[in-house]
Amino acid sequence: MTENEHLLEIVAEECVEVAQRISKALRFGTSEIQPNQPYTNAERVMHEYADLIAIVEMCQGRSLLPDVERWRIEEKKAKIDRFLQYARQCGTVTEAVQATNAANRAPLDQGCSQGISLTAAQTAERPSGV
Ligand SMILES: [Mg+2]
Repeated sequence: MTENEHLLEIVAEECVEVAQRISKALRFGTSEIQPNQPYTNAERVMHEYADLIAIVEMCQGRSLLPDVERWRIEEKKAKIDRFLQYARQCGTVTEAVQATNAANRAPLDQGCSQGISLTAAQTAERPSGV
């Protein structure tokens, strides 16, 4: 493996780590704090995002990856908005469901963020490595 391949492999790993943290935030809430560490799931997503930015910038510094044009980012945002609207039309995303989920999740998020509401059984369900 060359150094460049090694760095590109790290890009792939950091992408997976961002995805993993997003998955945990969806499963347990953005404000949940996993046992044995101090950060919320939202903060941990951004930590992994910072790791991703770091390795991408290193690759850009070696001309392995080019700079990204701002218009591509804006174009993606517009595309996401279009598909979000389409998903609402399909009935797979609705404001009512989001509000209900948010209301149902709030007490859980609040309890998890305090880090003291987990019973031993709940902690066992959410070990530090998960
Ligand atoms: Mg990482």
